[in-house]
Amino acid sequence: MQAEIIRVGILGAGGLGQAAAQILAQKQEMQLVAIADRSGFAFDAEGLDATAVLQASMTQGSVGYTPGAGTFTSDAIRALIERSHDVDAFFIALPNLPNDFIPGVIHNFAQAEYDGVMVDALKRTGAVELVFKLDPLLSAVGMTYITGAGATPGLLTAAAALAAQSFQEILKVEIYFGVGISNWDAYRATIREDIAHLDGFDVERVSEMTDEEIEVELDRRNGILELVNMEHADDVILEHAGIVDRKQVTVGGIVDTRSPKKPVSTNVKVTGKTFEGKMSTHVFTLGDETSMAANVCGPVFGYMKTGIWLNRRSIHGVFSSADLMPRFVQ
Ligand code: NAD
Repeated sequence: MQAEIIRVGILGAGGLGQAAAQILAQKQEMQLVAIADRSGFAFDAEGLDATAVLQASMTQGSVGYTPGAGTFTSDAIRALIERSHDVDAFFIALPNLPNDFIPGVIHNFAQAEYDGVMVDALKRTGAVELVFKLDPLLSAVGMTYITGAGATPGLLTAAAALAAQSFQEILKVEIYFGVGISNWDAYRATIREDIAHLDGFDVERVSEMTDEEIEVELDRRNGILELVNMEHADDVILEHAGIVDRKQVTVGGIVDTRSPKKPVSTNVKVTGKTFEGKMSTHVFTLGDETSMAANVCGPVFGYMKTGIWLNRRSIHGVFSSADLMPRFVQ
């Protein structure tokens, strides 16, 4: 029997949205049917040609130019909500500026009684806390929602949840990531949101900065962002899953916006005490050749498949990457 094909929508067609469309073009079990950006959307319930969508987005600046499937509108998210009965699952690859933007989008889907699956790659603790609060609403509507399902939070948080099993008590979880991109322009929201973690900046301030101001800030730092003690949702996700107190989770990293080479290897270290009283640390390190896009979008689709599996069994509400494991998408 042929496996059912999951019809996927992507909200946002920037760095991650485009990478997600490219990945879907290589999958047999999932089919891109909808994608939105700030200027328009492309939709075809029978399936979009991912190459045509990418060409429209990369060379003409909007998925609205997709031949035969594209439309221009200033409210592409609303347009996809109206077509959501033909979409099994959505990946939210939008900027989360301000902090309640994505929670607001989820709320709008719930108000329209969308009862499929939604997955995000949210990063901030405060944003994920807002999503957790939507649990009663999403449960009532019949939506299955998975939050923090990118790389960090996401792949590394799930790895920490698994590594924790060796221990009776978890003492600390340390996440350190390296990201290398050749041009900040390709991942505008990601870089803006990272700058918001630097001393003297916050989400409100970076939301109001122009692209030129961001470039000046990057120039001042030779394109390198060094991030320490970030307000990163791995903490609340691991706490919510009952693994460790959020205070014992630290996240930092280095982002090079001028070279695709990773400045440091991304890893998570989980330190704990075993039932025999021995202290030890598990380390999980990602391969340096894997890009940010591969480490975010891969888990997103793996969690989406898990979400579909739960949704078909009438399991609804908000879950996190540490609550569940991603299933592999062929
Ligand atoms: P980007 O700036 O490259 O792209 C954002 C896209 O959203 C663009 O296509 C833009 O047109 C579209 N958009 C913006 N406002 C919109 C609106 N109102 N309606 C429709 N479309 C709209 O962003 P990116 O760098 O790809 O990042 C996307 C998100 O992924 C960010 O929130 C970032 O924090 C997150 N992220 C998570 C991880 C992780 O590991 N968890 C890693 C990297 C990025």
